[in-house]
Amino acid sequence: MPDFLDTNITYLHGVGPKRAELLNKELNVYTFGDLLWYFPYKYIDRTRFFKISELDPDLPFVQVRGVIKGYYTEGHGAGKRLVADFQDDTGSIKLVWFKGVKWITQSFNPGVEFIVFGKPGVFNGMINIIHPEIEASNKAAERVSSALQAQYNTSENLKNHFLTSKALDKLMGNLIGQMNFRLPETLPGYLISKYHLMDFDEAMRKIHFPSNNAELEKARYRLKFEELFFIQLNLLRFKNNRSRKFRGFVFSNVGDNFNNFYFHNLPFTLTEAQKKVMKEIRKDLGSGKQMNRLLQGDVGSGKTLVALMSMLIAIDNGYQACIMAPTEILANQHFQTITKLLNGINIKVRLLTGSSVRSSRKEISESLQDKSLDILIGTHALIEDSVQFSRLGLVIIDEQHRFGVEQRAKLWQKSLNPPHILVMTATPIPRTLAMTLYGDLDVSVIDELPPGRIPVKTMHFFDSERNKVFGFLRSRISEGRQVFVVYPLIKESEKMDYKDLEDGWDTISRAFPAPEYCVSVVHGKMTSALKEESMRLFREGQAHILVATTVIEVGVDIPNATVMVIESAERFGLSQLHQLRGRVGRGADQSYCILMSSAKLSKEAAMRIEVMLRTNDGFEIAETDLQLRGPGDIEGTMQSGIPFDLKIANLGKDGQLIEYVRNIAEEIISKDPLFEENSNHILADELRRLFSKQQSWSNIS
Ligand code: ADP
Ligand code: MG
Repeated sequence: MPDFLDTNITYLHGVGPKRAELLNKELNVYTFGDLLWYFPYKYIDRTRFFKISELDPDLPFVQVRGVIKGYYTEGHGAGKRLVADFQDDTGSIKLVWFKGVKWITQSFNPGVEFIVFGKPGVFNGMINIIHPEIEASNKAAERVSSALQAQYNTSENLKNHFLTSKALDKLMGNLIGQMNFRLPETLPGYLISKYHLMDFDEAMRKIHFPSNNAELEKARYRLKFEELFFIQLNLLRFKNNRSRKFRGFVFSNVGDNFNNFYFHNLPFTLTEAQKKVMKEIRKDLGSGKQMNRLLQGDVGSGKTLVALMSMLIAIDNGYQACIMAPTEILANQHFQTITKLLNGINIKVRLLTGSSVRSSRKEISESLQDKSLDILIGTHALIEDSVQFSRLGLVIIDEQHRFGVEQRAKLWQKSLNPPHILVMTATPIPRTLAMTLYGDLDVSVIDELPPGRIPVKTMHFFDSERNKVFGFLRSRISEGRQVFVVYPLIKESEKMDYKDLEDGWDTISRAFPAPEYCVSVVHGKMTSALKEESMRLFREGQAHILVATTVIEVGVDIPNATVMVIESAERFGLSQLHQLRGRVGRGADQSYCILMSSAKLSKEAAMRIEVMLRTNDGFEIAETDLQLRGPGDIEGTMQSGIPFDLKIANLGKDGQLIEYVRNIAEEIISKDPLFEENSNHILADELRRLFSKQQSWSNIS
């Protein structure tokens, strides 16, 4: 039977070579199976009829029963259209066609009762429906498809070739009509009965052609359950495999380096949360299993220190450690912070980035080999093949949302036995989303900021109020504080963005003229040397204002900077805004985040700004972000290594189900980790089918 699902889509009744090509290109549908897994995004209840007097342009799709009074033509050129007056006993609307005019006038005679289906719009004060579906009233009664009509996403290009939602619905009917066998079950019988699931074959048919809401809900639940369950099962299987296969290096000593640092160099006492997390990490490192831990902590919660102390433990036990950061600026900063913190302690630290020169690469390479190098800090450059450690014991990945699972795996391969891994992220992730994105990791949370922090005050100003804002900046600067001004940089319109940045820089340079003020600038198109020079001016307090693009978004730590001005704030996502705000509020002084925007705001943008004004809590912001945007847009999900696009479940909305199926998966793995019981063979088969490609890099043996 699977042969049937693998059949090329060209062989489907109603699909020729031209349509096949479109389906390939636009929907990634190549086979019968691909089409069957192309699920509707919504359903329209075709049992409900509207009266014309009830119609208004805010309604979604509606169906109306009535009579065409007559046809005429309006407009000319590209705007030329066929119009029909359509009436019921409550009023009249216009039906409009720009194409297929001849066929319409021939098929639908005035005076006959029709059912018209479409999205109401408005033109010249009259309600209309453009390109409605029309059906003879008596025919509708015998329609085979269900009362709940599936709606499929299509593209402009598909629609131009008449592959509308309706057409896809028809193809789906053809396909399912030909499916004169039952689709094989994918879940063990005991799960189906225990959790009252619809069987697979029925669910796959009903999801396209439900006869009523109850049936649709059962089908949808079964398919979501299955989709989320296998993701969790896969993650948990990896986790379990790893702990059975790999013996972790045992770091049993806490030695001189750690103690020296702790008793002589540590500039403050650790927060309770930092202590708690250190305990969790030390336990992992000493346990003999390989650590795979995610460290979540809001911006400014002091993750760097935790990273450093963990590295010192590795070094005390004769191993090397590395930190990988997502940007050169951040790698640089880590290098400087850590070098400073280790002052007087005999530990060799080096920095490796894309712009490291050959001689220093050579020196790094040699000292990695002869074991004299203890800590290597860098960017992606660390994963290059030429970087070979001799005794890598601990890998720290900072700001994980910029790295994919695949890159994580590459670092593991740097040594024979996988090193301990600590992934740090400052982008708080809602719990249920983390379960999927990082479902194979253990989680530690720093849920407390260092003492004495004053919450950042957030304010919102329109562009027209810029002078007022500048005045505010001048008074902060006169108190000796520094200011970030950030411009958005969004790839698609790079030219325009740089223009924004340049204009902004002009305005600011004029408002803050030399020699009284010093303004430095940093953006992605500058060389690393220039960037670092600008950052240095600012870090050392010589520059009062740093004008930047979002390159400074992550990690930058300059406590004397107490004002963050975010230009065109309406163009940033919530998690970015929160990250940027996290750049200030690090010292003992009151800090400010000023959101600048145009006066015209979309509803969503206004909501984002409202959330920023309301709370400083990263977790609350992440939760709202997930609700506002859906997980697909949340930074990091793209590269997260979720093995396939979710076809039916929604990580934002199905949080409860995720927890539920994770527990079920956990129970199965704990009882039968290798799926050896007869009833569980089916799970192994399905995992292989779904994830076999992924295994090659996730499963290093
Ligand atoms: P993040 O978690 O965002 O990476 P950092 O590690 O950059 O945060 O720390 C933010 C700031 O807080 C730094 O200036 C750091 O020196 C300071 N810090 C860290 N831990 C403590 C502590 N226990 N007490 C006081 N300040 C601390
Ligand atoms: Mg950090």
